[in-house]
Amino acid sequence: MAVQTVAGNATTASVDLGPAVALSCRECGERFDLGPLFACASCFGPLEVAYDLPAGDPEALRKRIEAGPDNIWRYAPLLPVPADVAGKPNLNPGFTKLVKADNLARELGVTGGLYVKDDSGNPTHSFKDRVVAIAVEAARAFGFTTLSCSSTGNLAGAVGAAAARAGLRSCVFIPHDLEQGKVVMAAVYGGELVGIEGNYDDVNRFCSELIGDPLGEGWGFVNVNLRPYYGEGSKTLAYEICEQLGWRLPDQIVIPIASGSQLTKIDKGFQELIRLGLVEDRPYRIFGAQAEGCSPVSAAFKAGHDVVRPQKPNTIAKSLAIGNPADGPYVLDIARRTGGAVEDVDDEQVVDAIKLLARTEGIFGETAGGVTVGVTKKLIEAGVIDPALTTVVLNTGDGLKTLDAVSSTSQATATIKPSLDAFRAAGLASA
Ligand SMILES: *Cc1c(COP(=O)(O)O)cnc(C)c1O
Repeated sequence: MAVQTVAGNATTASVDLGPAVALSCRECGERFDLGPLFACASCFGPLEVAYDLPAGDPEALRKRIEAGPDNIWRYAPLLPVPADVAGKPNLNPGFTKLVKADNLARELGVTGGLYVKDDSGNPTHSFKDRVVAIAVEAARAFGFTTLSCSSTGNLAGAVGAAAARAGLRSCVFIPHDLEQGKVVMAAVYGGELVGIEGNYDDVNRFCSELIGDPLGEGWGFVNVNLRPYYGEGSKTLAYEICEQLGWRLPDQIVIPIASGSQLTKIDKGFQELIRLGLVEDRPYRIFGAQAEGCSPVSAAFKAGHDVVRPQKPNTIAKSLAIGNPADGPYVLDIARRTGGAVEDVDDEQVVDAIKLLARTEGIFGETAGGVTVGVTKKLIEAGVIDPALTTVVLNTGDGLKTLDAVSSTSQATATIKPSLDAFRAAGLASA
């Protein structure tokens, strides 16, 4: 067993994280003891959680999951969390709605079944509650007392709320120019919130420095030194979607890309379900979605490159504005291996797609949801997504957090005096 060199300054003795047995390097396969590590000591590749997953009867495991709580802890046997996790103070995210979007399907010409996985229903109204819930268990296991992160907005709120509930201190870092809704949601839970004069990539670099400094001692950065655990939370989206489809893989899924972590872990989740015999092994295609103003992975996909060239983000889809995405190359691999694609839409198409989803299904997504719906529409029109197959589109956050995106074009139809004459004059009476 290798020596733990990339430290987080916390103890790792007798860690109980359920079925998780080690960290393994995604590049060279070297294994390390569970601990607050994120890069391989030999090759600097990213580390991920390795498991001793429950073997045996898939039917028994399926029943055990179905009998579990209506949140991500129903999948505790497949996650790096202690067996008694459901009884601890946490926000219990997950098991959000999988909405059969028949109106949107009609509008887009999809005949094979179109679903929106609506993660705006999580405790802090974005998918980030899933990843943070897992990171909190790792932080507890490693004895961290302060929870931290570099964030494009949603993560800061999720960390603030989870820390409040878990009784941990929090200090989170965001670019200084985020949407008001995200700033307020990050601050309201009472932790420390620091705006950094720079973009997300500057914030992330700052946090990496802080981890190596005595100033950051005892701090668990959910997406840096706890990143291998954090990432596993996204697998629950894969599990839920399959369970909600009746223990079946979707044929096609459209996932937004910021760092790319979510997309890679949804693929990992599908692979685990296949290996455990919980779903039938059938082909599925994974599509990644970006905003044109921050589309480094989409650009690499289209150019046929294996590496991702960093960009300087400029888009209203700020939750996805990571110009140098850590998991970019892995996303490219997965899109190519599964016969998917990575595509982008411009800000105007993002706004149109937010309104399309709202108008057809009554779901108000944030800009990231506009990105996935917009890319879905574009790829259907281009003949890349097959309308005859079952397709799942993720809405990863709540439109109330990004009101600015639609506020200029979503206003009162009319403002009138409180009289029937005035209403008649406005021309809105039923025909
Ligand atoms: C963070 C985030 C994502 C995806 O993030 P990854 O870094 O790619 O895992 C998607 N949607 C929203 C709303 C987010 O906040």
